[in-house]
Amino acid sequence: MAMVDVDANSTGLERARALIETVPDFPEPGILFRDITPLLADQAALRATVDALAAVAPGADVVVGIESRGFIFAAPIAYALGAGFVPVRKLGRLPRATERESYDLEYGANTVEIHKDAIRPGQTVLIVDDVLATGGTMRAAARLVERLGGEVLGIAVLVELAALGGRAALEERRIWSAFVYE
Ligand code: AMP
Repeated sequence: MAMVDVDANSTGLERARALIETVPDFPEPGILFRDITPLLADQAALRATVDALAAVAPGADVVVGIESRGFIFAAPIAYALGAGFVPVRKLGRLPRATERESYDLEYGANTVEIHKDAIRPGQTVLIVDDVLATGGTMRAAARLVERLGGEVLGIAVLVELAALGGRAALEERRIWSAFVYE
């Protein structure tokens, strides 16, 4: 779809929702991919989104972003909050001593890492990603933060794919999503 039907008078968040494109069968058959790049390219939508996600945990010491699209939101949220930014990355990308967490995918497994010294015990943390699907990635990130002694104040995502059960996978942790797709 080349043109997006966006009401110029809508609030930034409504505008943002309208700018998320749904792409069938990407990157493989059966996946409905939620493409946020048109939202990112729009000044009002990007600002409204970052502001909304930043409002979730105003007292956070650290904002953790999950590679790679989580980084896009986590860094400006950290800047807005006056917090630090910490990346959770795919296996093998971080150069110093790490903690690792593996989780199962439909086929195979995945591993994410965090630098061991990235979070100090007692620091309060907001974890950010673009999409919450099954919750496997987010749960692994939360476990890494908690293993370092960080206190997860909340989890903020732009899009929650509710049918995939990510909320349940995250147990009692507090979750905030800007847009829920049933
Ligand atoms: P999950 O671990 O299943 O919750 O998957 C979350 C990660 O996969 C996020 O980092 C998303 O960027 C990505 N992801 C999963 N499903 C989709 C989807 N339908 N559209 C876009 N990104 C997705």
